[in-house]
Amino acid sequence: MKILVPVKRVLDYNIKPRAKSDGSGVELSGLKMAMNPFDEIALEEAVRLKEKNVATEVIAVSCGQVSSQDILRTALALGADRAILIETDYDLEPLAVAKCLAKLIDKEQPNLVICGKQAIDDDSNQTGQILAALLGWSQATFASKIEVTQDHLDVTREIDGGLETVHVSLPSVVTTDLRLNEPRFATLPNIMKAKKKPLETISAQSLQIDIAPRIRVLKVREPDPRPAGIKVDSVDTLIEKLKTDAKVIG
Ligand code: AMP
Repeated sequence: MKILVPVKRVLDYNIKPRAKSDGSGVELSGLKMAMNPFDEIALEEAVRLKEKNVATEVIAVSCGQVSSQDILRTALALGADRAILIETDYDLEPLAVAKCLAKLIDKEQPNLVICGKQAIDDDSNQTGQILAALLGWSQATFASKIEVTQDHLDVTREIDGGLETVHVSLPSVVTTDLRLNEPRFATLPNIMKAKKKPLETISAQSLQIDIAPRIRVLKVREPDPRPAGIKVDSVDTLIEKLKTDAKVIG
């Protein structure tokens, strides 16, 4: 089984995002970027399937600027066999990413794609679903457990009030939830070995698809700062304040 793992370069999740002063987007310059955390989980799952001899090859793919090579090297250090950058200067929307991936999938013919359920920068939660639709493949979203059986997968999904297990045929697109696994850290020897693994670059233009943006961001702004809290000296005052000032109880 060949597994493709799409990975996106996003602002490191430890950094508090700040809006640009002109409101045109989120400030990224000079800040630490990293692999989208849900994609680390996707990659970990693929590498575990390879370690169990269920998968034969794990390919990490990123669509974006040349700077995304850094997360592809990380993917190689974490266990991917090879990496592909679909390079473009466009800020890609989920539809465009899915179109790029679908073209690559035509060429690479993987049996399984494991994506993150969402990229933490734009929280779209769309790419995996659009990709499955473009390919006409089955999909299982928000996976918290994946079991491979011959030409099918049993995927457990976290839904409101419990767990649901779906049986999907391969090829399939699965998107990962937080509790699927705990990703490993890249060890120094593996970081060194990753430098020798293949990292191919394909220009998005050469795929001959329309990836022009359909959405224009009008404004990005930070939430209003929360007003400072106050201390009250009795429960009666607290109840009074909740009634009259905050108006959260009647
Ligand atoms: P989104 O639909 O943008 O929330 O992203 C969902 C998932 O699609 C991510 O977790 C990645 O696995 C994949 N993805 C999104 N954007 C990209 C990209 N530019 N390159 C590679 N994979 C991506």
